[in-house]
Amino acid sequence: MEWTWGSTDAPRAARAAKVKVIALNEAPAPSIECEGSDGARYHATLQACTCPDFSINQKKGKPTACKHMVLLATRLGLLNKDGLTPRDQFLADFRQREDLLARCAWYYYVLDEPFVSDAEYDAMKAEYMEWRTQL
Ligand SMILES: [Zn+2]
Repeated sequence: MEWTWGSTDAPRAARAAKVKVIALNEAPAPSIECEGSDGARYHATLQACTCPDFSINQKKGKPTACKHMVLLATRLGLLNKDGLTPRDQFLADFRQREDLLARCAWYYYVLDEPFVSDAEYDAMKAEYMEWRTQL
């Protein structure tokens, strides 16, 4: 079970969440049956989908996972509700923590107006250094 499409954008993830699911099959390989807004049925796997959106993007030379494939990946835990892979979510969390730590240091060293205690800062720094080893 492999998802090779990476993260998707938030609008596509939101559209995927609204897709009507007819059946979710986990064996022999994960697949999903969906009903389109026009009443047509589409069959998606982690590799391809029978919907027009997927084939149009393929023909344009811009292979992209459609919302049905994104929905399947989300149901399987390969993407989160925002359309991010666990790795991309980790990187986003890491950058956010890094920004917060930088702001703490700025207020402490430059402005001399610390907004967290030394103990809180040390704990945040220790966690940050641990996360850095996972980059
Ligand atoms: Zn599709």
